[in-house]
Amino acid sequence: MKTDLSLIRFALHGGAGELPRDAPPQDAQRAALRAIATEATALLQAGGSALDAVTRAVEQLEQCPLFNAGIGAVLNRDGLPELDAAIARGEDRGTGAVAGVSRVASPIRLARAIMERTPHVLFAAEGAERVARELGLPMVAPASFIIPLRLEQLAAAKRSGSIALDHVDDDDIDPDAAFGTVGAVARDAQGRLAAATSTGGLTNKLPGRIGDTAIFAAGTFADDTSCALSCTGTGEAFIRAAFGQAVHGRMVWGGMSLDDATQAALDDVRRHHGRGGCIAIGRDGALTLPFNAGVLYRAWAGSDGRIRVAIRRDDAE
Ligand code: ASP
Repeated sequence: MKTDLSLIRFALHGGAGELPRDAPPQDAQRAALRAIATEATALLQAGGSALDAVTRAVEQLEQCPLFNAGIGAVLNRDGLPELDAAIARGEDRGTGAVAGVSRVASPIRLARAIMERTPHVLFAAEGAERVARELGLPMVAPASFIIPLRLEQLAAAKRSGSIALDHVDDDDIDPDAAFGTVGAVARDAQGRLAAATSTGGLTNKLPGRIGDTAIFAAGTFADDTSCALSCTGTGEAFIRAAFGQAVHGRMVWGGMSLDDATQAALDDVRRHHGRGGCIAIGRDGALTLPFNAGVLYRAWAGSDGRIRVAIRRDDAE
C-alpha cells in the first residue's frame, strides 16, 4: 500500500468538563497530553498504523492517574471503578468494546483483543473479564484503579446527592463536575482512520450503568468513508444523539463538512440535555475538536505535524 507521510493526523483528549478561571494551570495534564501525542505521532511517522497509534495513546492515558480512565477512573455509587472502552477501525468498521470491567489492566487492550480475536463486538462485566483471562491479558485488583481524589469526589457527589444523570438542564449543571474520559483518533500514512475511547464513566453513577464510550457509532466511531471520532461528555445524551452515526450520515449522505457535521451533532447532544465534546479526523484530513462544555483537554498534530495542546477555548495553542 502506498504511504504518504503528509496524510498523518492525530488527536487525543483527556475529557471535557468545567474548570474555574482561577484553577491552577494544569501543567501536569498539559505535559502528559503533549508527551503521549508526541509519541503517537512519532509512531505514525515511523509507518505505524492508525490503529496502533490510538491503542497506544489510550493505553498510556489509562495508566495516567490525571485522567478518568484506568488508574484514576471515577467511581460508581458503590465506590467501585466500572470501566468502559471501545476501539474502531475505519477500513472495515472493525470494532471491539467492553463495559463495566474492574479487573482488566487495560480496557482498551481488551477492546482491541475483542475486535481482533473474537467473533463478537461488545462484552460486559464478568463475561468481559473472563474473555480477558482467556485471551491472557493482564488482570489487576479493582483497588489498583482507585486514587484518593476519586474517593473524595464520590463522597462530595453523595453529599450533594448529585449523580451524573442530574445534568439534565442548564440550571442543574454542577460547575465542579469534571468529565475526563480519554480518547484518540488518527489517520495514518496510508490514509486509514481509527478511533479509541476509554473511561470510568461518571462519578456516583448507578452500578451497571454503561455510557456512550462503549457504544460503537455513539461515543466511538471510525469509517474510512467519513471520519474517526471519540467523544466525551454526558454519555446518555451522546447515545440519544447517536453521535458517531449522526456525524457519518451528515457527511456521507448530506455532503456536510466534518466541522459542520460534528457541530450539528453536538447541538443535538445539547437538545438531549447533555454537554461535552469530541475529537474528529475526516477522511480528507480535516481535524476538528468542538465542545460545548467549559473545557476540553486536548492535543493534536495537524498537517504541519506540530503538536499543539489546549484546555480552554481561548488557550494559545
Ligand atoms: N462519556 C462518558 C460517559 O458517559 C463520560 C465522560 O466523557 O467523562 O461514560
